[in-house]
Amino acid sequence: MDNLTRKLKGSLPSTIFDILIEAGELCDRNGFKLFMVGGRVRDLFLGRAGMDIDLVVEGNALVLAEELAKLRGASFTPHHRFKTAALETEGYNLDIATARRESYPHPGALPVIELGSLDDDLKRRDFSINAMAVSLNNHDFGRLIDPLKGRLDLNHGLIRILHPGSFKDDATRIFRAVRYEQRFGFSMEAETMNALVRHKNYLASISPDRLRYEVECILNEKYPEKALKRAGSLSVLSHLHPSLQFSARKSSWFKQAREMFYPQRPPADLYLALACYGLRQSESSLLEKRLNLPGATSRILADAVALQQKIKELSDNCLESSEIYNRLINYDPVTVTACMIASDQPAAKKNMDCFLRILRYVKPALSGDDLKNLGVPHGPQIGQMLDRLKSARLDGHAVTRQDEANLVKNWLGKS
Ligand code: ATP
Repeated sequence: MDNLTRKLKGSLPSTIFDILIEAGELCDRNGFKLFMVGGRVRDLFLGRAGMDIDLVVEGNALVLAEELAKLRGASFTPHHRFKTAALETEGYNLDIATARRESYPHPGALPVIELGSLDDDLKRRDFSINAMAVSLNNHDFGRLIDPLKGRLDLNHGLIRILHPGSFKDDATRIFRAVRYEQRFGFSMEAETMNALVRHKNYLASISPDRLRYEVECILNEKYPEKALKRAGSLSVLSHLHPSLQFSARKSSWFKQAREMFYPQRPPADLYLALACYGLRQSESSLLEKRLNLPGATSRILADAVALQQKIKELSDNCLESSEIYNRLINYDPVTVTACMIASDQPAAKKNMDCFLRILRYVKPALSGDDLKNLGVPHGPQIGQMLDRLKSARLDGHAVTRQDEANLVKNWLGKS
């Protein structure tokens, strides 16, 4: 057993390791070559784990996927056009692809794909550290294949593109470079950095959906603020919107968001709202278009701009709880959370915090049916009285069920 076999075995549950051995044997029988590639190989050396495994077949990935799925009683999704398949087993996602070669008809275009060798498949990748493979065929199981010297760059902590035109072909790699650099605490290799500066304008050639995907990947990092700060300092962030900047202050908001949600992760939309805090409505709308953001996310950003303009109205230590409630209840809680974290007005912060933790959950004890039993006529009055009861509870005028019933009787008497 050589070193990588041991690393591989140590990094995977035994069932998944056995699947890799079986997949290798199936390929032996079919005359295919099988390799593990990409981030998983990189992470073997970094001692990081994940639930995604990318496999490349010199042969036909669909045949392997079908046979493996049959053997394991698993289901798989084939993509006939590119001869790839996705197989889910034991909570792991196995992406099985037929080795391919790519060329770019023009910058930012989706690549033209042809079948190729492992060597071609490694050369089409983004960075050397992501372009290593491990052989999984039985006779040389565990052998590292590293024609682009990814291992050396990993040892030196370097992000290196594979050819000078890489960022021009696909400028999403600029965001990927920043993300890996900051995730691993690496640096850009000098020529890669030069190419990034030279070609960052090609970000304009990237479609909104592809750009949004890269932003989402950054927001899903453990510490997204690191990559955002770096993207800001490289003037890359401004390609999403010219006014978008990322300050040390915003970094501290991200930390606060994590503390608030610990042990869970803060929602990605909260990070985005914090990153965009301070943009004007028109700027925020442009950013929404540039990233083709989903409706719910767009609303959170638009609401955050609207709520920022109302912060003054919330900066009052004497507001009744029902007033705080009524001013905030129509905003998404993510919007309120973003404004609470980012606002520098202590009273507004306190009121928003109180709303998020307590007020928004307050409900009257009596139901619509209870009100009918107390003699409230059917129709809109029921809803109106439930609202009045909620306000009474919020402001401490009703604490018990009986208090609420007394209030209702009182209101009925007066009307
Ligand atoms: P992680 O999921 O840890 O961020 P990963 O390396 O698994 O890292 P994926 O985005 O799943 O990342 O991509 C899988 C592999 O596909 C990468 O390792 C890389 O080799 C290749 N790849 C992904 N995107 C690109 C791209 N834009 N250009 C070239 N190669 C890419």
